[in-house]
Amino acid sequence: MIPLFKHYPPLSKALPFVTLGQYPTPVLDACALDVGNRTAGITVKQDGLSGLPYGGNKVRKLEFLLGDALAKDKTDIFTFGGAGSNHALATAIYAQQLGLRPRSFLIAQPNSHSVRNNLLRSLETGVQLRHFESTAGLAAGVALEASWHLFRGKGWPYLIPPGGTSALGLLGYVNAAFELKAQVDAGDLPLPDVIYVASGTMGTCVGLALGFQILGLNPKICSVAVTDAGFSSINRAKKLFDGANALLRKADSAIPEFHFGDCDFELRHDFFGGEYGRYTKEGADAVERMKVATGTGIEGCYTGKCLAALLEDLHLGRLADQQVLFWNTYNATTFAGSIASQDYRRLPRDFHRYFDNDVQELDRGR
Ligand SMILES: *Cc1c(COP(=O)(O)O)cnc(C)c1O
Repeated sequence: MIPLFKHYPPLSKALPFVTLGQYPTPVLDACALDVGNRTAGITVKQDGLSGLPYGGNKVRKLEFLLGDALAKDKTDIFTFGGAGSNHALATAIYAQQLGLRPRSFLIAQPNSHSVRNNLLRSLETGVQLRHFESTAGLAAGVALEASWHLFRGKGWPYLIPPGGTSALGLLGYVNAAFELKAQVDAGDLPLPDVIYVASGTMGTCVGLALGFQILGLNPKICSVAVTDAGFSSINRAKKLFDGANALLRKADSAIPEFHFGDCDFELRHDFFGGEYGRYTKEGADAVERMKVATGTGIEGCYTGKCLAALLEDLHLGRLADQQVLFWNTYNATTFAGSIASQDYRRLPRDFHRYFDNDVQELDRGR
């Protein structure tokens, strides 16, 4: 049973859940990231190892979301994201594993090796992919297909929001806070003073913030935005926090009401770089530094930008004598071998551009 349910047994009866991943994810000492005075303690929470065949932060959310789809007898799953979305790929893989039919509605994004790899890996799952140039086009496409589904008597598909972020999905990260607390209690790592986490749709950082409130702890959550204010904003964080808190309280009245304003929560836009999926020099350098210091592979869209913020704070002496946790949200399972034999021309034509055109400049030569 997951730690959150162990603490609040009524939740396990009231909330949908299906086990997909493997926990707890390990923690790694990463003090080697600090090349200065070395007064900060740095640990990495390796959520890249959250699941097989595919890890990363989406697995914890999908345990609740796909659990909900199963509980509601849904057979078709629709989800959304950028062309190279880790979330869409994770959904495709795990939905298929559960015998559900996934379909992904994807929107144009800057090209990278990671986009290519995810698209090729998607081919292996048999997920149906559609590409759109704009959110308006995407919304219209989804409405049309969902209506068509209904019309053919297949019911309304189960819709998973971008990033798997909803009040229900983010409970995966409320639970992750409980998991980390157990690792602290077991002596695996010191209690963090500050946690760095990349923010795309905010489910991960808000889930952690709520989880630590419930635990009576208040580490600073430094949430590094990699999306614009439409997705990453304090207003949105507060709504998600309140929604998840209400969901939990409805399932178990022993859980108190919390206020987002009491969290030590910082949302930073200074490493975003202006466009989702567009790599930055700082982010690319941070990816390199992580590789050299710990042997861990991260990427330029999310985790590189987040680590860049951490490294800057370290450099400026803001983290002196602090216990710092970098929450690594990027899948760690390589699938380079299996996709090598995939032919991108089997993808819908709109996706061929990611293979016919070069990757973005900061991703070349890698
Ligand atoms: C989706 C994703 C994130 C962002 O998580 P949110 O819960 O959407 O904020 C961070 N890192 C990676 C690697 C991701 O795929």
